[in-house]
Amino acid sequence: MNLIDIHETFKTDEQCIEYLATLRWPDGVRCVVCGSDQVRQYSSPTKKQTGRKIYQCQEPTCKQQFTATSGTIFHDTHLPLTKWFLALSVIVDAKKGISAKQLQRHLNVGYKTAWYLAHRIRKAMEETGSPLLTGTVEIDETYIGGRTRGHARKFQDKDVVLGIRQRGGQLRLLQLENRKEATLYDAISQHVDKGVERIMTDDNRAYNFKDTQYHNAERGTIRHSRKEYVRGDIHTNTVESAFSLFKRGLVGSYHQLSIKHLQRYLNEFSYRFNRRDTRTLFEQTLQRMAMGKPMPFAELTADEQASV
Ligand SMILES: [Zn+2]
Repeated sequence: MNLIDIHETFKTDEQCIEYLATLRWPDGVRCVVCGSDQVRQYSSPTKKQTGRKIYQCQEPTCKQQFTATSGTIFHDTHLPLTKWFLALSVIVDAKKGISAKQLQRHLNVGYKTAWYLAHRIRKAMEETGSPLLTGTVEIDETYIGGRTRGHARKFQDKDVVLGIRQRGGQLRLLQLENRKEATLYDAISQHVDKGVERIMTDDNRAYNFKDTQYHNAERGTIRHSRKEYVRGDIHTNTVESAFSLFKRGLVGSYHQLSIKHLQRYLNEFSYRFNRRDTRTLFEQTLQRMAMGKPMPFAELTADEQASV
């Protein structure tokens, strides 16, 4: 669905709720506590949520009452679901990302609301349970901040971003504490399969896999320090093209983003990047939101807003 479809299809909160219920329970409603399919449905006009279907579990030991949004990101939201849907459609459509200020204008809501919405939606974009990368994998680092490449000693450790991309496969972007060998290896081992065939890196000596689970992988090293960028099919160009797209998004959309939230932006970017050929990004992401657990406000820090 594109922006127009979403706007036309979801005009009321009831329509949104119905859709969330079908995403959450494609095979019929189940109790959110015990999982039973013995569920009765009724509407309670006396409730504040007029028109929202109330379900009650029929298991004698459970008897839980719930709605389609119970235990999800949408539970207890004061914002109309139509705004949530619009926010999501704008975010999944923005290839280079979108700032809270832009979102505020699109949705006609306050800045704080837009900021909070964006962060909650980003939370749903975290890759969990994704397969490890294998085949030919390119690994490179980049630096986020106002500094230019080529003066490594000037970089602050906290601004290091590691990019890992499987050729013909997925991308991962990870914010690192520093660029020491152990830190790099820790991050890589969480995302790269031990059976990986080839690993392409630059000549940073921290990429030393001799005594690691990757010792059998064929190594391709490109000498960035000597301005060498391609030698046959040895290069890290596909991960670097992702870096440059991310950075263009930073300049255009986020301006000075807070380093504290950098990993969330990296997640959002790689989530969209890895699904750039799908036409159902809105539906897929909404499904994650319809299933997930709510994120308490305390997990986000309001004092960083000005920079987002
Ligand atoms: Zn139950």
